[in-house]
Amino acid sequence: MEAPIGPGPTGISLTNIKVCVRCGLRYDWRKSPSTLKMTYCGSLCEAGDLGFTLDALLQLKREDVIPAKGAEAEPATV
Ligand SMILES: [Zn+2]
Repeated sequence: MEAPIGPGPTGISLTNIKVCVRCGLRYDWRKSPSTLKMTYCGSLCEAGDLGFTLDALLQLKREDVIPAKGAEAEPATV
């Protein structure tokens, strides 16, 4: 049994309705521009909750340069 979530025609499939964990808004996750569209209603909520967007994080990781080893400090001789 499906309970109606509000007024209006029942054109919206409830299976696609998610509640944003950030703002509590009901949204159709397929229309969310967020990377985590099943969790957040939009990029703003994603960025606001995580402090970053997954897109930005992935780009950071991709450009992350691991510092080369070998620049070890020589022991000081006294
Ligand atoms: Zn939201």
